[in-house]
Amino acid sequence: MNIRDEILSAHGEMIEWRHELHKNPQTAFEETFAANFIQEKLTEFGIPFKTGYGKTGIVAKIEGKTNTSGKSVAFRADTDALDINEESGKTWRSKTDGKMHGCGHDGHMTMLLGAARHLQNNPEFDGTLNLIFQPAEETLQGARAMIKDGLFKDFPSDEIYGMHNWPWVNRGKFATCNGTLMASVSNIEVTIIGKAGHSGMINHANDPVIIGAEILTSMQTLISQRTNPFDPAVIYFPIFETDVQDTGIVPEKAVLKGIIRALNAGLRAELEQRARDLCNNIAAAHGATASVEIHQDGDEVYNSKAPTKKACSVATSIVGEGQVDDQYMPTMSGEDFGSYVCEVPGNFIFIGQGEPGDPNNSSSFSLHSPYYDFNDEIIPIGVEYWVRLAETTMPLAQK
Ligand SMILES: [Zn+2]
Ligand SMILES: [Zn+2]
Repeated sequence: MNIRDEILSAHGEMIEWRHELHKNPQTAFEETFAANFIQEKLTEFGIPFKTGYGKTGIVAKIEGKTNTSGKSVAFRADTDALDINEESGKTWRSKTDGKMHGCGHDGHMTMLLGAARHLQNNPEFDGTLNLIFQPAEETLQGARAMIKDGLFKDFPSDEIYGMHNWPWVNRGKFATCNGTLMASVSNIEVTIIGKAGHSGMINHANDPVIIGAEILTSMQTLISQRTNPFDPAVIYFPIFETDVQDTGIVPEKAVLKGIIRALNAGLRAELEQRARDLCNNIAAAHGATASVEIHQDGDEVYNSKAPTKKACSVATSIVGEGQVDDQYMPTMSGEDFGSYVCEVPGNFIFIGQGEPGDPNNSSSFSLHSPYYDFNDEIIPIGVEYWVRLAETTMPLAQK
């Protein structure tokens, strides 16, 4: 492992930051504890910043030693937690029941702050570095909210980079790929209106539940029968609701709530249209109506070639040859980092955090598990990654 002494010597202090952030989780657009913590640290480090992007979002700016290139690069960390009751058993467990940093965003903030301090004191790069501290990643709304509030207008960026801890990759490794790394997310809500009645005289009613059941199963044929098996997509409906609590009653209305995930924007649009047609046609075939609402909540995370090459070479220079998987299998989970790379080319990389051979370690548990915890051992690796990435994407002129 190739990590500079100055970063290694700050490890203990950075673990304290991480635990402080971990104890105080807040969810989408309410991340005031994290926002205050970040502002205090940036002020202490002498780094200028602006607030007011996506409510609790912050953007800081570090000027390189020189700026002959006129280039600017953005690094992003997310700040929000989840509605999960923590069961990690750690002494730094969440102080708020029902809220938890279960995705490691506490670690992401810590690593970017650690890098910010180092780069402010040692700005060995030629250009401008923008540091984005983004709220509301879990609801896939924070990135778009920050862009809408003028993020790239006020902080123009030629490239953008993001990093997420990944329990499925071991500590000491990195993983990413060219092209799409993470799926787009469209939320879909289907409301079926039939005719209410008595379940003993169901022939006088029109049951929206049985129509919903048909829609639910037929929806899977959009993947199994209509989609190229080499073009990955997922359709999943975990929620099926009526307002009836009594088996004697036929409800008037049934609601299905689900999600469409795809790696390819064309397929996403196609599946959305086919889902609408299927709902409308099945409802009509039964003399009922269906209304379909689709929200495109997250764009796919598309990694551009040049930034991905730089990210992989920086990661390799830290953890060594053979420790960076640059052809990692894409995942069907979503990340609103995708909204940034619609505007600016970039790369999103996974930093390994699983403990090798120890599946019951909190660092090896899945993201969003109540037993999960960010792996403090990877903090220096992540900090070194950010620092080198600034130095590599905006190199100083050779003397
Ligand atoms: Zn998450
Ligand atoms: Zn996350």
